[in-house]
Amino acid sequence: MSLTSNKASASNDGFSTLTRCYLGLGSNLSNEIGTPSQHIEQAIDRLAAHADIRHVRASSLYASQPMGPQDQPDFVNAVVELDTVLTPDALLDLCQCLEQQAMRVRLRHWGERSLDVDVLLYGATLIDTPRLTVPHAGILERNFVLIPLAELNPELCLFEQRIIDIPMSHDWTGLVRLS
Ligand code: ADP
Ligand code: MG
Repeated sequence: MSLTSNKASASNDGFSTLTRCYLGLGSNLSNEIGTPSQHIEQAIDRLAAHADIRHVRASSLYASQPMGPQDQPDFVNAVVELDTVLTPDALLDLCQCLEQQAMRVRLRHWGERSLDVDVLLYGATLIDTPRLTVPHAGILERNFVLIPLAELNPELCLFEQRIIDIPMSHDWTGLVRLS
C-alpha cells in the first residue's frame, strides 16, 4: 500500500531531507487565548515561524458540525501543508505543544477543545506505532479533512486513490467554507 510521492524537493539551505506533511487543525472552544478561528490562526503563524519548517500553506477555514457529542459548538477546521525536517514523532510533539499553547484541556472523548492538531500525512510514509497512526485514522471518512486537503492539493493521492476521486472530498454535508 502506498500513498503518493509526497516528498518535497531538496533545497540548498540545509533542508535537504524535507518531507511534505499535512496537519489537520480543529477548534470549537473559546478561552482567554482566543476564539476558535484565532486558535487556528495562531497555530498557523507558529508553524510558519518554526525553524524546522518551510513552505507553510493553509487552506481556508471551514465550519463543521461536531463528530462526537452533539451538545457542543460547531468546529472551525483547516488543513496546513508544510515541509519539515522534523521526524514524525517530533512533528507530533510540536502538534501537542501547539495544543498546550492554546491551553487545551481534555474534557471528554471527541468533545470540545480549544485546539486539536493532528498529523494527517507525513510524506508517503505509513506509520503504525502506539503513539502515531499516519495517515490519520478516519482520514477517508472526514469531509472536514478531505475538502481542505483537496483545496490545497487536488493532485494528492491517498491509498492509491486520487483525493478528488474519494466521494467524501465532494460531500459538503455539515460543512461551510468561512474564508
Ligand atoms: P483526537 O484527535 O482523536 O480527538 P487527541 O487529540 O486527544 O484525539 O489525541 C489522542 C492521541 O492520538 C494522541 O495522544 C496521539 O498519541 C494519538 N495519535 C495517533 N495518531 C495520531 C495522529 N496522526 N495525529 C495526532 N495524534 C495521533
Ligand atoms: Mg488530535
